[in-house]
Amino acid sequence: AAKRLEGKTIVITGASSGIGKSCAFEFARTSPKNLKLILTARRIDTLKEVAAEIQKEVGDGVKVLPVQLDVSKPEEVRQFVPKLPEEFRDIHVLVNNAGLVKGLARAPEIAEEDMNTMFNTNVTGLINMTQAILPIFKSRRKEEGGAGDVINVGSIAGREPYAGGSIYCATKAAVRSFSDSLRKETVDSRIRVIEIDPGQVETEFSVVRFYGDAEKAKKVYEGVEPLTPDDIAEVVVFAASRRENVVIADTLVFPSHQV
Ligand code: NDP
Repeated sequence: AAKRLEGKTIVITGASSGIGKSCAFEFARTSPKNLKLILTARRIDTLKEVAAEIQKEVGDGVKVLPVQLDVSKPEEVRQFVPKLPEEFRDIHVLVNNAGLVKGLARAPEIAEEDMNTMFNTNVTGLINMTQAILPIFKSRRKEEGGAGDVINVGSIAGREPYAGGSIYCATKAAVRSFSDSLRKETVDSRIRVIEIDPGQVETEFSVVRFYGDAEKAKKVYEGVEPLTPDDIAEVVVFAASRRENVVIADTLVFPSHQV
C-alpha cells in the first residue's frame, strides 16, 4: 500500500478535525517516505497545528501544506489550484470530506441559513472542488500511473433518510448521486470515484450540529459505541492505495449497533 501512494499529492478538505484530520495522519503513516499532503479547512491555525503534529510524527518525508479554504465559497475554490506552490499542483487524490449538519430540524422548520450552509458545503462545495481538480487528473497520462482519485465522504444518511434530518439526508443523497454519475462520466479516463459512507462517528460533527453545545453533543454517544475517525480514515487510505485498476466504488461503514 505504501508503495502505491509513494510520490503522490493528496488534498483533503475538512482536515482540521474528525475524519479529515485522521485521513491526513493515516496517509502520512502509511506512506511516510515520499508524500505530499495539502490540508484544507477554514480554521487555518488548527490546520497548522495538525500539520506540525504530522511532521513531528513522521518526519520530513511527508511534505504538509496547510491551506485556508472555505469550500462553500466558489471564488476561494476557483483560486485554490492556481494559488498552490508549483510543487504541490500535481494532485493525485482529492478527499472531499468537508461537511456538516446544522440543526437537523424537520423540513418546515429548518432555518434558511442552515439549509444553505449544508447545501453550499456538502454538495456545491464538493462539486466545485471536484471540478477544480479534475483537469489535473484528465491531463495525466495513463502510463504515468493512473489519472487520479476522487474520494467522496457521504453518509449513511444519504441511503437511509430519517425524520428530522431531511435537509442533511438530502445533501448526502446528492453526494451519492453525484459520485455515481461522475464514475460513469469518467469511465474512460482511469479516474476512480470512490464513495465512502460512514455511520455514526464520534467527532466534532455533533458539536457543530448543536451550534457549539458540547454537552448536548456528548449525549448523542451515550450508551452506544460509535466509530472513531480512524476507522473511516483506514478505509479511505485502503481505497486510495489499491492497484490502479481496482475501484472500491461504494462502501458503507457503520458501528455494529447501527443496523
Ligand atoms: P467534524 O466536524 O469533526 O469535521 C468537519 C470538517 O469539515 C472540519 O475540519 C471543518 O473544518 C470542515 N468544514 C466544515 N465546513 C467547511 C467549509 N465550508 N469549508 C471547508 N471546510 C469545512 O466532522 P466529521 O469529521 O464527522 O465530518 C467529516 C465528514 O463526514 C462530513 O462530510 C460529514 O457529513 C461526514 N459524516 C460524519 C458522520 C459522523 O457521525 N461524524 C457520519 C457520516 C458522515 P473548519 O471548521 O476548520 O472549516
